[in-house]
Amino acid sequence: MTRTPEIDADRLWEAHRLMAEIGPIPGGGSRRLALSPEDAAARALLLDWTRPLGLAYAQDAIGNMFFRREGTAPAEGAVAFGSHLDTVPEGGRFDGVSGVLCALEVMRALHEAGVTTRRPLELVNWTNEEGSRFRPAMMGSRVFAADMSLKDALAVRDNDGISVEQALKETGQAGPLAPSPRGWSAWLELHIEQGPVMEATGTDIGVVTGTMHARYLQLTVHGEPSHGGATAMERRHDALAAVAEAILAIERIGIAAEPRGRSAASWIENEPNARGSVPNLTRLSADVRHEDPEAAIRMEAEVKAALEAIATRRKVRIELDPYATFGPTVFDAGLCSLLRQKAEARQLSTRDMVAAAGHDSVLVNPLCPSAMLFVPCKGGITHNPAEYASKEQLARGAQVLLDAVLTLAK
Ligand SMILES: [Zn+2]
Repeated sequence: MTRTPEIDADRLWEAHRLMAEIGPIPGGGSRRLALSPEDAAARALLLDWTRPLGLAYAQDAIGNMFFRREGTAPAEGAVAFGSHLDTVPEGGRFDGVSGVLCALEVMRALHEAGVTTRRPLELVNWTNEEGSRFRPAMMGSRVFAADMSLKDALAVRDNDGISVEQALKETGQAGPLAPSPRGWSAWLELHIEQGPVMEATGTDIGVVTGTMHARYLQLTVHGEPSHGGATAMERRHDALAAVAEAILAIERIGIAAEPRGRSAASWIENEPNARGSVPNLTRLSADVRHEDPEAAIRMEAEVKAALEAIATRRKVRIELDPYATFGPTVFDAGLCSLLRQKAEARQLSTRDMVAAAGHDSVLVNPLCPSAMLFVPCKGGITHNPAEYASKEQLARGAQVLLDAVLTLAK
């Protein structure tokens, strides 16, 4: 007789506590940069924890970890779930980590209840989701999904000149498998919300229907070099002052688009960047994003109009280069409704949400039906030691994940 598997909230919470002891930083957070000794220790702990569960372990050449629980129909596509154990330099205990530890708790609960499933199950820990040490972010899932070549990823270097290839070898994480999709039938990722909406609305489970559409812009302002003292104010064509106005305009456009849209101006380069000289060339990178792609396009047009007005008034020339777009990602509607049903069956409140940040699931989504579920995040604080989700919130999320996995795998 098998029992209905139930999440053990205390065991799940204890796993968070123990994992946070690896790379601890003041304030209760964690620092586990991708492929650092701390990341390697976290991976070793996960391996230890999975050993009694009888899972088959496999690792690919970019260090992604796969723990497989065999099904009675091994030829059928596995139901896969997980997230990432790496953190930003001043990270918390939950971003990514909860996705892996809730997945582990699902495996533990199934093992304890003696459940066998028809489809195999796979627990996944992706390499370098954060991109803090090695750019780009979501490197492991990118290589897995052939969005980036393994060769290019291995050649990426950190600020100390250490390559991904070297870091993988030094930490013993260069696995023998060629990174490639594993024929999954479904992918699920649990993550903390990284925003304040669920807490503010008393939502237990966020059903993530997709990600925002982001549009990345670079602007180059051509002014005129002149003396910062001798030139009369009205005769200057100050590129930096024009960019200062542009930054504020971009911010206003983001504020007007909230809550469904955002903007950011985040990188600047200035020439000659010399004291006493009026800047004649300034570059700025910015982005606008919105749940509705049409609205993001309108935001970009508003940025363009604001820049034209600034250019005319200040007599500078502004070039706008819309150099990249991202998303929108639309997750599988069937999986989203399954998550909603499973939450409701447990008397949990749900809310459809659109993720503003990138996640590994975005890369997996084209490979197989994919979806994400959010658990609340106190005060919306994330990438910070103060990041927090409660034991009960995590257990509810893990239970919905478990219930969904069972339906998909039966
Ligand atoms: Zn994350």
